[in-house]
Amino acid sequence: SAEGLSPEEIDIERALRPISFEDFTGQQQVLENLKIFVQAANLRKEALDHTLLHGPPGLGKTTLAHILANELGVGLKVSSGPVLDKPGDLAGLLTNLEPRDVLFIDEIHRLSPVVEEYLYSAMEDYKIDIMIESGPNARSVQIHLEPFTLVGATTRSGLLTAPMRARFGISSRLQYYDTELLSTIVQRSADILRVPISEEAAIEIAGRSRGTPRISNALLRRVRDFAQIKGDGNIDMNIARFGLKALNVDAHGLDEMDNKILATIIDKFKGGPVGLTTLATAVSENAETIEEVYEPFLIQQGFIMRTPRGREVTELAYKHLGRLHGGDQPG
Ligand code: ADP
Repeated sequence: SAEGLSPEEIDIERALRPISFEDFTGQQQVLENLKIFVQAANLRKEALDHTLLHGPPGLGKTTLAHILANELGVGLKVSSGPVLDKPGDLAGLLTNLEPRDVLFIDEIHRLSPVVEEYLYSAMEDYKIDIMIESGPNARSVQIHLEPFTLVGATTRSGLLTAPMRARFGISSRLQYYDTELLSTIVQRSADILRVPISEEAAIEIAGRSRGTPRISNALLRRVRDFAQIKGDGNIDMNIARFGLKALNVDAHGLDEMDNKILATIIDKFKGGPVGLTTLATAVSENAETIEEVYEPFLIQQGFIMRTPRGREVTELAYKHLGRLHGGDQPG
């Protein structure tokens, strides 16, 4: 997904996007499995099973959809849940697919129920019903589709309906990347952008990227601007630190909402435990977004714990925000 980017930035995104399994860093388990499934499908000259990719934004779901089409040697059509709002739009896409093509639907949890229902028979039997003519002559005709692969991406697997979920033969969850993997990605992107970068600078950028390649690449591009204008064009540790400080990037790469969540649990709920819906109201964010976008990273980094009674912050969160832990205060 590349919403809100200028055409120039979209070109850069495209240049930085890995195009084969070989180019793709990390997600080892997911990748190993997908390689096998793709090989088997290629061998049998069949369409790959429908594949669901879930996980937080910016971890490579769209990238993997492109890679799957590439490795299958087929075409790719791209759409998204909110865009496909009429069955007719979906029918248009489906009837234009070549054998074994990949249809990528981003934000698949946001399909309307009518469109979703329509997709079921396409996924299951490669058939759809379309209405032809109108008024008294209107009738529905069944159309056969070429065998195809639906690749669905979602940040909110919890919002996917059970029948939808059941129609995916393959389901893979992407994980946050550790700093080492991200620094490899930063190095690779710097090579493509032809900007020299030191190993420690790459690690510095990687460590502040919220475990997310998209953020690594965005930070790299901004730091490259600082290197060109304020330095000699090379990204070394000094220019990386200077740039990241000017960009107001948190030492752990936490974003505004991450910090707001931590501060709110500490200030309004005495560190927790606090229930998800209560917390969501307090930070004015939707509960599912907290659960599927923010919380996984905060838990993975050890800032939050999930307990049977709700979310609690850890000692690390107090330290991170420079707060004194209530329990340590005298009296
Ligand atoms: P999502 O669809 O999960 O939101 P994308 O596939 O759009 O994420 O990835 C965002 C950007 O991050 C891509 O443009 C790509 O350049 C980069 N990226 C993601 N995963 C990787 C990876 N494993 N290796 C290298 N770059 C990656």
